[in-house]
Amino acid sequence: MFNNKRDHIKTHAGGAAIVELSRIPLFSNLYHYKKTIKNIMPRITTALIMCGVLFATFSCTQQSETPFDSSSLVKPGDHVKYGSYVVYKIGEGIYKINDPGTTTGRYGAWGVDMYLICGEDKALMIDLGNNYIDGCEQDLIEPRENAAEELRDVVYELIGKLPLEIAISHLHPDHDGMAGAFLDSEVTFWVGEGENIAAIQSQHNIDPSILTVFTQGEKTFDLGGERIVETLLVRGHSNGHTIFILKKDLLLFTIDAYGNGVGQTFRSVESLKIFAEDAQKLVDYISANFSPYERYGLRVYVGHTWLNVYSPYYSPNKEKVDIGYLDWRYVQNLCSCAKGILEGKWLVEGSGLLHVGNMSQVDWWGTAGQAIMVYDLGTIVIPLELAFEAAGLEMSD
Ligand SMILES: [Zn+2]
Repeated sequence: MFNNKRDHIKTHAGGAAIVELSRIPLFSNLYHYKKTIKNIMPRITTALIMCGVLFATFSCTQQSETPFDSSSLVKPGDHVKYGSYVVYKIGEGIYKINDPGTTTGRYGAWGVDMYLICGEDKALMIDLGNNYIDGCEQDLIEPRENAAEELRDVVYELIGKLPLEIAISHLHPDHDGMAGAFLDSEVTFWVGEGENIAAIQSQHNIDPSILTVFTQGEKTFDLGGERIVETLLVRGHSNGHTIFILKKDLLLFTIDAYGNGVGQTFRSVESLKIFAEDAQKLVDYISANFSPYERYGLRVYVGHTWLNVYSPYYSPNKEKVDIGYLDWRYVQNLCSCAKGILEGKWLVEGSGLLHVGNMSQVDWWGTAGQAIMVYDLGTIVIPLELAFEAAGLEMSD
C-alpha cells in the first residue's frame, strides 16, 4: 500500500496528520514538514495506518445506493458526506465539494476541493477534482465504483434544473480529473488561456477538444441573480491558472495559484517572477474594486484546504491552525513575500521578510540550502540559490 517511504498518511476534519510527505511537483507546498511531523507523530503512526486502511477500504467500497440528500445543508458551514465527498455549504447556493483524499495515493490524492456556485439562471462548477473513474497513475489513485454517478448525484442535486458550466482552474490531474462524469451532457468545459490543454489527454485520456479556452480578465460567468463570477490570471503554479472572484459574496477562489495556508512553492526564478507580477495585479485589482470593508471580509478558498491548518509554516512547537479559508491579509502577505525575495529583502534587517532556513522541514527538496521565506502570513519555499538569482545577487557560502 505504501509503495514508497515518502508516501504519507492523513486523516481529516480535526485529525489532519502527515507522517511522511514527499515532493509534490504539482501543488508542492507542504512536503518540507516531512521529518518534523514524522518526529512528533511516531506513536500514532500505526494507528493512522490502520485508519488509512479502513478509510481507503470504505472509500473504495462505498457506493451511491442512496441518492444524495442536500436537505441538511441549511446554513453556511453545514456539511454532509456522500460517498467519496464531503459537501459543505459555504454561502447561499454556494458549495465546496471536498474530496478528503486517501492515505494511499500521493499529491492531489491527499485531498482536493471543488466549488459549485448557483445563480438564478445557471450553475458554475469550479474544478473537477481527482479522477476516480479511471484512477490516476501519477497520483496513485485507484478507480472507484460508481465514481461518475456519485459526483453527478451531488452536483445535480445541488443545482436542480439549472444548466451547468464547468471551469477548470488549471489542468493538473487533481483538478480536471472527473471531466469524464460530464462528457455525455451539454456541459461546457472552460479553461483559461495559457494552460496546456493537451494535458487532459495524457492525464485522463480525454480529448482536449472538449475544452473551450477563455481569456482571463475578459471572461465572466453571469449566473443570473446578479451573481457574476469574474476571472483573473495568476501564473506561477501553472502557466494559465485562473482564479475566480464572486464579488457580491466576497469570495475569491484562488485554488492552487496562490498557495495554501502553508504558502507556495516555486522551482524556478521565472515562475517566482511571474507570480510576483500577477499577485501584485490581484492585490491592485482587489484594492481598486473592493471597498475596505469588503476586502476585509474576503474569504479566500484554495484547492487543498486541508493544508491551511499548517499555516503559515510549520514548526514542531507550533499548534495547527483552525482555519477553513484564507483572507485579504494572506493575499497581501504572499505578494509581499514574492516581491521581497526578488528584492533580496531577506538580507535586509527589519524588512519583514525572514529567511527561515536550516530547519528540518525544509529538507524535502532533497538537497541542502533550501529556504522558507516568510512574510507574516505569506510563505514561499524556494531553493536558496534561486532566491539569490531572483534577487540578482551572488550567493555567498
Ligand atoms: Zn492541486
